[in-house]
Amino acid sequence: MELWQQMVRDSVHTVDQLVEKFDIDRNVAESLNEFFQVRINPYYLSLIRYPGDPIWQQCVPDIKELHDYDANDDPLMEDAMSPVPNITHRYPDRALFLTTSQCGLYCRFCTRKRKVGDSEKISMKGLEAAFNYLEQHTEIRDVIMSGGDPLMLTDVMLEKILQRLRQIPHIEIIRLGTKMPCVLPQRITPKLVEMLKKYHPIYINTHFNHPWEVTPESSKACQMLADAGCPVGNQMVLMKGINDDPMVVRELMQKLLKMRVRPYYIYMADQTKGANHFRTTVEKGLEIIENLRGWTSGLAVPHFVIDAPGGGGKIPLLPNYVLHHDENKIILRNFEKKVFAYEQVKETEKLKRKTHKPKSPSRKVKKDKKPVANIREVVLPGIITSEN
Ligand SMILES: *Cc1c(COP(=O)(O)O)cnc(C)c1O
Ligand code: SF4
Repeated sequence: MELWQQMVRDSVHTVDQLVEKFDIDRNVAESLNEFFQVRINPYYLSLIRYPGDPIWQQCVPDIKELHDYDANDDPLMEDAMSPVPNITHRYPDRALFLTTSQCGLYCRFCTRKRKVGDSEKISMKGLEAAFNYLEQHTEIRDVIMSGGDPLMLTDVMLEKILQRLRQIPHIEIIRLGTKMPCVLPQRITPKLVEMLKKYHPIYINTHFNHPWEVTPESSKACQMLADAGCPVGNQMVLMKGINDDPMVVRELMQKLLKMRVRPYYIYMADQTKGANHFRTTVEKGLEIIENLRGWTSGLAVPHFVIDAPGGGGKIPLLPNYVLHHDENKIILRNFEKKVFAYEQVKETEKLKRKTHKPKSPSRKVKKDKKPVANIREVVLPGIITSEN
């Protein structure tokens, strides 16, 4: 057995341990463990500095989880968008591929609790149907292996899946969505990265939420992946009492860059059953982005998104930098709140250019047409959406 597998075995996972180590009432501990299984491996446990700290809150169950038992357990409607077991196909050219229900740690805020934990929640029998679906759907050029955590698979099993995916010509890139570099960095072994190298282009998206998760061990893991040629991105979930503070997030983003991890997304926490106590306001997220853009490396500024309830996908949000926008000019403010104007290309210049074009009969028809309403006027005040 490899070291990381032994560490998973040595996790805090029983009701007795919860009572003993975290002083949780036995009845409550039983209900919590039944609601969503506990797994705190010795590495992540060692990062806790004091009871209730940002590390503790992410992994130690809390009675608050039981208070919204009626909430939705699939707020993103992933199951409705699942054409075959183990596949969620929400976007035109990419698909999510669930390969295991296991994780190196069970995060109390997990949005996929219905799929994660006991091994029956994601069946390995479904893999064949999933491969067939990916083969038949030639529009899929990007497969995101997720779960659970695909790095809970053994190297042998993982390699079998990668080999199979690489036999499908239209799949251009493979992504691994894994929390292991953060929660169990011992999983990133020289043997694993040597294997991954053979199946490039492989992208990794990992999941750090707090600067205390950046340790010598996790830095080494991320750098090994980068050295193996895997671009590593980070997806952070914004959570009350954990990272809803611009200075904490800025520190995390900068530390990620130092270990060659590129911040990719910050998510609003999903409205998931048992995790609503982690949610904070959209304004807090906008304030965090406002405190990154311009103030630190652009590389440290991820997209801030809401994964729309009901399966709308990720929708980006930006602080409002546009004060006015018409066909002549756009008035903008910068990160220091100074105001600037950018002139649009003049109508007369546009006309001049047109006169160089050969005349076409259709232009005469246009003259009689009413001017088309300017779509830009419909841009909502307050928040605009855009690419970062
Ligand atoms: C997030 C997600 C993706 C990937 O989205 P990107 O914006 O390309 O990173 C794909 N499918 C599903 C269902 C997702 O939730
Ligand atoms: S690693 Fe991901 S899938 Fe697993 S419990 Fe944490 S958030 Fe959920």
